[in-house]
Amino acid sequence: MKGTPSMGTKKRRILHGYCRRCGHKSYNLITHVCAHCGYGRSRRLK
Ligand SMILES: [Zn+2]
Repeated sequence: MKGTPSMGTKKRRILHGYCRRCGHKSYNLITHVCAHCGYGRSRRLK
């Protein structure tokens, strides 16, 4: 492949876990918001 960025060695961090509400693996473990159903979006209590 030509044009491969030098920063291509960045590790694949685990960003998404399984959402407790919809069950999709779209629950962002950092922002605690599910990208699929929006779980954790409204009440941003930490
Ligand atoms: Zn969800």
